[in-house]
Amino acid sequence: MGVKLIKGGTVVNANHIGEADVLIEEEKIVGVISPQSEIAISALHGDTDIIDASGMYVIPGGVDAHVHLQLPMSPEATSSDTFASGTAAAAWGGTTTVIDFAGQIKGTAIPHAIETRLEEASGQCAIDYAFHLSVGDVNNQSLIDLSNMLEEGISSYKLFMAYPDSWYSDDGQILQVMQLAADTGAMIMMHAENGIAIDVLRDQAFERGATGSIWHGRTRPPELEGEAAHRAIQLAVVAGSPLYIVHLSSSNALNEVARARNDGKNVFAETCPQYLYLSLEEHLDQPGIDGVRHICSPPLRKLADGHQDSLWKGLRTDDLSVVATDHCPFCDAEKRLGIDDFRQAPNGLGVIEHRMDLLFQGVLQGEISLQRWVEICSTTPARLFGLQGKKGVIAPGADADIVIYDPKKEHVLGAETHHMAIDHSAWEGVSVTGQAISVLSRGNFVVQNRQFVGEQGHGKFLKRNIPDFLR
Ligand SMILES: [Zn+2]
Repeated sequence: MGVKLIKGGTVVNANHIGEADVLIEEEKIVGVISPQSEIAISALHGDTDIIDASGMYVIPGGVDAHVHLQLPMSPEATSSDTFASGTAAAAWGGTTTVIDFAGQIKGTAIPHAIETRLEEASGQCAIDYAFHLSVGDVNNQSLIDLSNMLEEGISSYKLFMAYPDSWYSDDGQILQVMQLAADTGAMIMMHAENGIAIDVLRDQAFERGATGSIWHGRTRPPELEGEAAHRAIQLAVVAGSPLYIVHLSSSNALNEVARARNDGKNVFAETCPQYLYLSLEEHLDQPGIDGVRHICSPPLRKLADGHQDSLWKGLRTDDLSVVATDHCPFCDAEKRLGIDDFRQAPNGLGVIEHRMDLLFQGVLQGEISLQRWVEICSTTPARLFGLQGKKGVIAPGADADIVIYDPKKEHVLGAETHHMAIDHSAWEGVSVTGQAISVLSRGNFVVQNRQFVGEQGHGKFLKRNIPDFLR
């Protein structure tokens, strides 16, 4: 510990890029200084630890605003990354903050959900973590409990228009939570798919013998994501709350978000690497386990319909503000539950380790700029979820969560080399250029020259402020 100087790199922030040295004292960044400055030169002669970053980008650690570690999806299937393995894998890929969820199951109390989740994560994480609250039972007591959640450092509530059997809230319940958020300043997160209609389509398909994984996609058409996004936006406008649509996958939903943003509404949306790179035809439409491995909700979309191009464009125009992973991995043993009935497959993919690298390919391909990469993967998620000033930026006073990123390093993704606790990879054999070489969390190395040197329990629970955006 003590004083460190990251020397010789190119510092990339969302709003500035330039050659600079980064001075760290204990857990904080204390200076972003010219390499020719007296402090930088005198540091070379003191007992400062010098970290060579020549030829590297020095970026704020990634902030993954949507992950599901050790999430019990059903009695038979719990997502396979624990808080320990999932946060370590995140760090390997250059992410230094994850925001998971405490989930209020129907018939249970919100404070209990938070206590349970805090206990599960405590002492386990390699990097800092926080929780959104998934609201599964909107009633009078829930509304009272939610209004007290800011003191617990939880400033975002997630609601579901999907999953009528479990997490679903009706429009009246959604409106009530939005009204509360308008008062408290919290962020509303929405799973925007019309679950009532989807469940009808799913059961109709199954009953006529359409049981394969492709039907997961065909029974969750993009129109029902667009419809739900539209409805969520109107409800948020009426209530006066901000709205953040999670895992947006289709141009149908994106068009609704773009229109609301053009009207000056506080509507934000995230997409995920799987919707930018994987498709219904190439991945979901495969026989047996290969198709089932790619079941996630919303589903992978049809490449031929142009959704991927729209999403990249949305990232450029800021109609999409964030890329998160919705990391929710299941091994083949659990995924097999869906082989003869797509409805039984646990939903989710393993992505947490690869987000920074996959989006860096977008920089190399000219889809987004280098600064925009940092903005959507780190700076904006920190701001929208109340971590502004602390995470997502390389500046004096911020936590020293820093990634030294080699933009030229080539490597191949796959189950043999990844660090996620999943026995297959949606990214098997994908070649990428660019890799996190060293990763610091609050001034401590978690990854150093591609060696894991982190510590289980180093990661702290982050109490978050209210979101930072123009009101
Ligand atoms: Zn999710």
